[in-house]
Amino acid sequence: MTENHPEQGPGLLKKAANLGKAVVRHVADGGKHVSDEVYLARLAICADCPSFDPERTSCKQKTCGCRVKNKARWRSENCPLGKWPSPEGA
Ligand code: SF4
Repeated sequence: MTENHPEQGPGLLKKAANLGKAVVRHVADGGKHVSDEVYLARLAICADCPSFDPERTSCKQKTCGCRVKNKARWRSENCPLGKWPSPEGA
C-alpha cells in the first residue's frame, strides 16, 4: 500500500466524499454497530497507529479521514490498512 504513514490526512473535500461513502455503506448495512469489545479493540489499535491524529482523533489515511470514535462503531467500516479485528470478534 502506498498510503502508509501520511504526513497529513485527506483534504476537506476528500474527507467529505469519504464520509459520504461510509454513510452509504452504514445505511446499506442496516445501521449495525459492532460489539463494545470490538469497538474498544479498534480504538486501542488506532491509538497506537502512526496514521492516527490524536488532535483530531481521526485517521490520516487518504481513503479515510474520519473520526475513529465514530467510524469504529459502524460494522460496515474497516481500517484502510486492515489492522482492525473482524466485526465478529476482537
Ligand atoms: S483506522 Fe487503521 S490506519 Fe486509520 S488510525 Fe486506525 S488503525 Fe490506523
